[in-house]
Amino acid sequence: MASISKTIKKNKQSVAPLLEGSGMIEYAPAPESKSSAKINAKYDLFINGKFEKPLSKKYFDTINPATEEKISTVAEANAADVDRAVKAARNAYNKVWSKMPAKERAKYIYRIARMIQERARELAIIETMDGGKPIRESRDIDVPIAANHFFYYAGWADKLQYAYPNKKIESLGVAGQIIPWNFPLLMAAWKIAPALATGNTVVLKPAETTPLTALKLAEIIQESDLPPGVVNIITGAGATGAAIVNHPDINKIAFTGSTDVGKIIQRAVAGTNKKITLELGGKAANIIFDDAPLDQAVEGVINGIFFNQGHVCCAGSRLFVQESVYKIVLQKLKDRLATLIVGDPLDKNTDIGAINSKQQMDNIHKYLKIGEKEGAEMYQTQCILPKKGFFMPPTLFTNVAQSSRIAQEEIFGPVLTIQTFRTDDEVIEKANNTPYGLSAGVWTDKGSKIFNLTTKMRAGVVWANTYNKFDPTSPFGGYKESGFGREGGLHGLSAYLNV
Ligand code: NAP
Ligand code: MG
Repeated sequence: MASISKTIKKNKQSVAPLLEGSGMIEYAPAPESKSSAKINAKYDLFINGKFEKPLSKKYFDTINPATEEKISTVAEANAADVDRAVKAARNAYNKVWSKMPAKERAKYIYRIARMIQERARELAIIETMDGGKPIRESRDIDVPIAANHFFYYAGWADKLQYAYPNKKIESLGVAGQIIPWNFPLLMAAWKIAPALATGNTVVLKPAETTPLTALKLAEIIQESDLPPGVVNIITGAGATGAAIVNHPDINKIAFTGSTDVGKIIQRAVAGTNKKITLELGGKAANIIFDDAPLDQAVEGVINGIFFNQGHVCCAGSRLFVQESVYKIVLQKLKDRLATLIVGDPLDKNTDIGAINSKQQMDNIHKYLKIGEKEGAEMYQTQCILPKKGFFMPPTLFTNVAQSSRIAQEEIFGPVLTIQTFRTDDEVIEKANNTPYGLSAGVWTDKGSKIFNLTTKMRAGVVWANTYNKFDPTSPFGGYKESGFGREGGLHGLSAYLNV
């Protein structure tokens, strides 16, 4: 294995042919067909159960970041459009949804879950085309977990009183929900499913670069016969999000996105009656002790940061390795990196797809320069990248200072910083030393070490001997600048209820 990365450096060719003769499997291209994805040339706003032309009269293009080709044109909602959507949601709340028996509400949510499953392949292909993530991930992670969220919360709809025994509970009203581009369908499911189960109605805005699966979900919702206005999905950019946040007739804001925008939103709702949950950025530590199963740990670290091009809020972007195994772990990491396939996201063999946008690509490159300027050592595999589209090789930084910006700030790309430690206390201090606190990972053979670290780490989720595992039954959310409130599980219900 060790020789592979060297050969790759020397030959500067794509990874797959170089594996010839190395004893490793060489994969023939296995592209997923686009034919089962029906994408309209143009999408309007989904308001009150219908696709409506925007009052703004404006539209914008959404592109495929792997090819830079336009996929579709979508409406750009202005404040008047937001107002229409909120009115539809209010009307549906007052007249239908808040009055409907809970078990009837549950039937609709189950139906949506089943329809997502039925159209899983189409949704996965569109997610990959619009956002750039490998089809393997859209197919095996995003879409099935999105369906599972609807199934899970459908189950709660008529059992809320069991979740809050001896408490009086009531729904909030209209929820405004704003989501990012890294898990477009999954974040829509995280937001919509618990809101509906608890009897609220919704106005949701997907991110500008990835609106298509949310619009497909709108089609599913329309076909499910959910009463008009219960879910409204409107597209647009930051200004549309701000119009939702500032609308006076919204009772709850649920936001997932960057810490910077989260702060703007928190300021905007201060002094209003709006309830708010913020799921923001992260800078997770993944910690390998010398007693860990190293091959598994390396695999977990790779999955933790290079999965979805590092476009994951809980990505394990800082690796801490116990000094005694540092050299061997670094070598294993480099060897494994050399086998990762970067390229066409629709190819089922691809490990690392396209960076979501030119803007995000530029931002990551800015951090690569900062890292080198700060004196860290950069290592990239020398795979050949597609000529079109936004791609970059997986990147490691060693010799990283604790105070350096690449170890403190969220890069949101396939970039891993590596530092060493000697003792438990030292690594806990280093791991906690960022403004964020969303997630962390621990790799060790000792249960006692896991307990010690999980209790002392300021992170909403700590994975032990695994990484990036999601389940609708378990709550997710941050400490510090990673936000507040929990989504998922029983905890996710209270974000949408007055208890
Ligand atoms: P972002 O720039 O904050 O955008 C998030 C959403 O907010 C988008 O729909 C965006 O619209 C909208 N928006 C922008 N400005 C707004 C404003 N002033 N008022 C209201 N809405 C506004 O974040 P991003 O770059 O899309 O996503 C990446 C970030 O999300 C990362 O920091 C990541 O860590 C975080 N994230 C956190 C979690 C979590 O659960 N904690 C999960 C996923 C992602 P446009 O994009 O259309 O402009
Ligand atoms: Mg796009």
